[in-house]
Amino acid sequence: MNNHNAHIHQERTEAVTASSGKLVILGAAESGVGAALLGKARAWDVWVSDGGAIKPAYKELLDAASIPYEEGGHTLQNILNADCIVKSPGIPEKAPIMKEIRAQGIWVESEIEFGFRYKGASKVIAITGSNGKSTTTKLCYHILKEAGYSVSMVGNIGNSFAKQIIEEPTEWYVMEVSSFQLDDTHHFQPDIAVLLNITPDHLDRYNYDFSNYIAAKFLIAKNQNQHNYFIINADDPVIMDYINKHSFTVPISHITMQDKLETAIGAFLQEDNIHFRYQGNDNQVSIHDLTLPGKHNQLNTMAAGISAQIAGIRKEKIRASFSTFEGLDHRLEFVAAVRGVQFINDSKATNVNSVWYALESMKTPTVLILGGQDKGNDYSELSELVKEKVKAIVCLGVNNAPIHAAFGHEIACMEDAASAEEAVQKAFQLASPGDTVLLSPACASFDLFKNYEDRGNQFKAAVKAL
Ligand code: ADP
Repeated sequence: MNNHNAHIHQERTEAVTASSGKLVILGAAESGVGAALLGKARAWDVWVSDGGAIKPAYKELLDAASIPYEEGGHTLQNILNADCIVKSPGIPEKAPIMKEIRAQGIWVESEIEFGFRYKGASKVIAITGSNGKSTTTKLCYHILKEAGYSVSMVGNIGNSFAKQIIEEPTEWYVMEVSSFQLDDTHHFQPDIAVLLNITPDHLDRYNYDFSNYIAAKFLIAKNQNQHNYFIINADDPVIMDYINKHSFTVPISHITMQDKLETAIGAFLQEDNIHFRYQGNDNQVSIHDLTLPGKHNQLNTMAAGISAQIAGIRKEKIRASFSTFEGLDHRLEFVAAVRGVQFINDSKATNVNSVWYALESMKTPTVLILGGQDKGNDYSELSELVKEKVKAIVCLGVNNAPIHAAFGHEIACMEDAASAEEAVQKAFQLASPGDTVLLSPACASFDLFKNYEDRGNQFKAAVKAL
């Protein structure tokens, strides 16, 4: 930033943090509408601009609050008049409107930053990572809720933070945060932050530079101080490399699948027990008492459990909540057993790392349904597990060439399918009683489906129709 821009930056920051002014919201979906409603209630002069069509349900909310908006394009003049812009996480930096805004040095903030201004004395547990955010957030929320806390689940899951604050504020917010939501945070300071893992994803949004994505993830701890907690996966080499090269004010706590712990607070695995260490106590939970399958979910459980303990929940209550937790759909979701073949829906596995964990948790020979819109995947990471566990692959995508190239020499039996129904039928033919058919695509779904939910639902319907 040059001096001139720095000056503008500072002036606008002061103006914004001092009181209210003209608040422009870019993007009128869950986070944008939430920020608009909250801004209006806090006396901002709010105006909303969406480059595409606004969903009727969101228009209703804006109309009901008498908030003016435009859709199908951006009126530059209005936007550049803003004192503060809240940008939807879906808008990339390379969008022309963002280039204009950056060139003018206008203050931009993320919706979670805007919500953070108005959260009052409430506490925030913020959870990020490349994989496992939703599962860990929901589990942590479940524990707090079962313990009788005033708590809501916000961010990338459920209501936006801002909308929850305006509609039904709670004493605790368990928040799923993506790297896009962390971009343009300035003062955001969760009481407890969790960083589950960092593997390459969304590189198209980060100039194809992994280090930019890593830095965005670490924004979660940027403002944390000695009274806060930062829980990290100590087995993740990317995370540990960054930690070793940077200094932090916040105390760091580890979660690890190793059998010892190097931090005073944290969780680790010894044989079949997860140990939670907090304030000198050691609380043990058997992995056989967890409802969620797979090693990755043991790690997610550590993250949620230690957060809950820091939040003041008794260990007995935490343990009870682990065994009543119902996981999320489309994440290693058991669908049905048909003539001895188990079907598992892991449609949310949209990158290679999540497929790795899915395969890792397979206990029978597996027919793997893989493919979709490839994000430049490197499949070599899967090679060993595929050799060990996969008897056949059904490719489910418009362009299946990358999958054939990656596994054609390892797996004799490879089939192509152009719909979920065809994939299920082919996989069923290839499977024998005792086998598992696993949909875990490693790719986005947009080539053949509306989204990953649609892909998972079509898969489940096809299984039920067998
Ligand atoms: P996110 O919200 O980060 O996308 P989800 O909980 O929705 O995470 O899970 C996405 C996918 O990643 C699913 O296929 C799930 O089985 C897998 N997964 C969940 N937790 C982890 C983890 N800790 N490490 C790797 N993969 C995971």
